[in-house]
Amino acid sequence: MIIKPKVRGFICTNAHPTGCAASVSQQIAYVKQQGELSNKPKNVLVIGCSTGYGLASRITAAFGAGAKTLGICFEKEPTEKRTGTAGWYNTAAFHKEAKSAGLYAKSINGDAFSHAIKDQTIETIKQDLGKIDLVIYSLASPRRTDPDTGEAYVSTLKPVGAPVTTKTFDTSKKIVHEISLEPANQEEIDRTVKVMGGEDWEIWLKRLHAAGVLADNCVTSSYTYIGKELTLPIYGHATIGKAKEDLDRAASALKNNYRDIGLKAYVTSLKAVVTQASSAIPVMPLYISLMYQVMKDEGVHEGVIEQIYGLFSKHLLADNPPLDEAKRLRMDGVETNDHIQGLIKAIWPKVTTENFPQLGDYDGYNRDFLKLFGFGFDGVDYEADVSPTANWD
Ligand code: NAD
Repeated sequence: MIIKPKVRGFICTNAHPTGCAASVSQQIAYVKQQGELSNKPKNVLVIGCSTGYGLASRITAAFGAGAKTLGICFEKEPTEKRTGTAGWYNTAAFHKEAKSAGLYAKSINGDAFSHAIKDQTIETIKQDLGKIDLVIYSLASPRRTDPDTGEAYVSTLKPVGAPVTTKTFDTSKKIVHEISLEPANQEEIDRTVKVMGGEDWEIWLKRLHAAGVLADNCVTSSYTYIGKELTLPIYGHATIGKAKEDLDRAASALKNNYRDIGLKAYVTSLKAVVTQASSAIPVMPLYISLMYQVMKDEGVHEGVIEQIYGLFSKHLLADNPPLDEAKRLRMDGVETNDHIQGLIKAIWPKVTTENFPQLGDYDGYNRDFLKLFGFGFDGVDYEADVSPTANWD
């Protein structure tokens, strides 16, 4: 099969196996180049391991620390006729690279919110790993089914309190325009918190602790985005921001509840980057394109792997890492500093459909977007007939 990108709005409906393998290889090469981490987790569980920040976490743990990794994700397996999802191919490529480096890697494909996948994970840890010393929670999902009641919840991306009018870039129509968003009602806020808040992270840790598979001084982190003025109306102060605030509550509850094993629970704030999750949020493609341009011009641009290697090497595994006022780890300091934000804010009012490619790094955004699905890597022959099937050995 010759595989070319099939882009529909903010999603690409297919993926290239060789390109996804190239993406994983590049991230592994980056981590190896940085050298070994001084604090090394041994057995790492990554919930949301197949793309974006979760995949970068898995790669950093395995190739920066030699850790055994168990990953959980929700991906579509390819058939002879249809490609799998990028996360499927990334996981296949990660397994292959881990195997050839002599590293344990197993992945469980299914709904991480369900009891069944948690049971399977615990069984696998008991059989293969004994205890886990690092749990990364990197799920991004628009829906969650409550495992006890069976009720399905869908999240909403809306402001909270008052309507918001702001600029955005429509990735389907390729135009910069104003959007007006009505505020969410309480039910929509509550449902978003149910999907993306801390409840499922807490259930995971509760189950792992009860099963006796968390090592003493185990560390866990979930990931958040905080942002500044330009994104606050649609992110930080919006429905998704309310869900992310709930992670702070959960981190504090986790530390209290599992003091017996000295659990360290953090929420880490990361930089905005192009991922499947961020592409779906209004305003973010425009904001990220401008921010990438500014940060590249200033020589301080970072992608997922640079952010996560920095997190693991400086903060996450340190004894007393610096924390912000809400006790979070911060990796977004450069993006959110006044200088960078000032430069982005100066461009923001001037952007139009016509000048967007000059003022913002739309090319870079687009290239990164296609790379999420394995397209646009040097050295990959996109005219070649490739088999879409790939196994997780
Ligand atoms: P992503 O879409 O690249 O990855 C999501 C992962 O979750 C994938 O591995 C997917 O398979 C898995 N997943 C989704 N639903 C699942 C389910 N029901 N069961 C099992 N696995 C499931 O997302 P990302 O952007 O890397 O986001 C990860 C975390 O990082 C999120 O908490 C997000 O808010 C946070 N974050 C993202 C950004 C950004 O700009 N992308 C910035 C800061 C923080």
